[in-house]
Amino acid sequence: MELPLTTTLVVGLKKSGLAVAEFLTRQGRKVRATDLKPLSELGEAAEVLARLNIPFEQQTPAVFESPGEIVLSPDVPWDLPALDEPRRRGTWITSEVELAAPFLKGRTIGITGSNGKTTTTSLIGHILREAGVPVQVGGNIGTPVTAMIDSSRDDGWNVLELSSFQLETISRFHAHIGVALNVTQNHLDRHHTFENYAAIKGRLFETQYSGDFAVLNAEDPECVAYAERTVATVQWFSSRRKVTPGASLCNGKLVLDGKLLMEAGEIPIRGLHNVENVLAAAIAAARAGVSREQIAAAVRTFHAVEHRLEFVRKVSGIDFYNDSKATSVDATLKAVNAFPGGLWVILGGKDKGLDYAALREPLAAKAHAALLIGAAAGKIADQLRGAVPLFDMKTLEAAVAYGYRNGQPGDTVLLAPACASFDQFRSYEHRGEVFKQIVNQLRVKD
Ligand code: ADP
Repeated sequence: MELPLTTTLVVGLKKSGLAVAEFLTRQGRKVRATDLKPLSELGEAAEVLARLNIPFEQQTPAVFESPGEIVLSPDVPWDLPALDEPRRRGTWITSEVELAAPFLKGRTIGITGSNGKTTTTSLIGHILREAGVPVQVGGNIGTPVTAMIDSSRDDGWNVLELSSFQLETISRFHAHIGVALNVTQNHLDRHHTFENYAAIKGRLFETQYSGDFAVLNAEDPECVAYAERTVATVQWFSSRRKVTPGASLCNGKLVLDGKLLMEAGEIPIRGLHNVENVLAAAIAAARAGVSREQIAAAVRTFHAVEHRLEFVRKVSGIDFYNDSKATSVDATLKAVNAFPGGLWVILGGKDKGLDYAALREPLAAKAHAALLIGAAAGKIADQLRGAVPLFDMKTLEAAVAYGYRNGQPGDTVLLAPACASFDQFRSYEHRGEVFKQIVNQLRVKD
């Protein structure tokens, strides 16, 4: 693969942009770098650019005036107005994933969807690894695709989580196996309309070749529509009815290619949404050559990804689950639905303008109480009042202590806050860590 010979401007200097800068420099290319933030606020970027001898200029329209191609990080919108002029000049503008794709050795599984990407990507990686298949996992989780080039191998698989931000610009990027889990409203600030957002995710299937596989959720209208836009062989999954070819949940059993894979009860991660993730992962792994027996065995040993309905500890008969990643009402609904009842649900944080009333019925059916924390507590209380007992606990520590003190053996204290974390924590990961620390310090009841 030949790259153009002029200087390349790398836009956006988080992990992906830095991986691009490093890769291009090692290819002997001249690189310039820019970001909206000053270098002093860009963490490790200053050190990486200094090491690579790459000049930095804070982003203004003038930065885009010099000739040379442009590589955008996933965080940078494709329709940035400053890119209009370079486009008129015929400048080659590409994205991190698109740039990396032709250099990646081996075959690729690309996973997209509004929810469940990280879980399903990790699960596919786990199944392939357990089956002894050479595999590396990255993309939107962990390692940027460009940083996976060196470690890719002809006989291996690259399992990539792909967000809409990464798929927006692809044309040469090609997944031998593409997976779409679901498409629900998300990121409209960047993609403007739901139709546009759904179409961008569909690029994963439009760029496939015949002989590739498209693994699609038969119950999701957008995923169903992708089947019309791909030349790949479509494989369906459904948690509601029998579908072929592909995988389904029927009477508590997971069926893959018409044969029993495993009982739903054997899946160690909770909830129907996770059954869907397992169905999709099972098809992808099967098409990558893994046997049904190996798939089932690997699923049985899969642990929830951290902060995603993660089991923390059982103390005095009470279970504690960390779903700090449940930062929307929808994700909290999925978490609540994953339990039969006996819940103490910790809700609250920084409000994202969502409507919490959708939680009234499920909480009334399954929860002893909602324990409210953070800035959104007042709004949540207004919208849930009368459906379930509410306690304004203010802090996570107080909420855990209350749930533990009042819980009975068999109950569950669930952190699934339906809010962002930034009022009291640095990130959802930080919130989850703090929750686990508090839980791990609880003493067994007398
Ligand atoms: P993503 O990487 O797409 O954000 P994660 O695997 O990190 O997905 O899961 C995020 C949250 O989305 C989880 O806490 C869970 O509540 C919810 N979720 C996971 N899988 C699914 C699915 N298949 N359908 C709907 N919601 C899901």
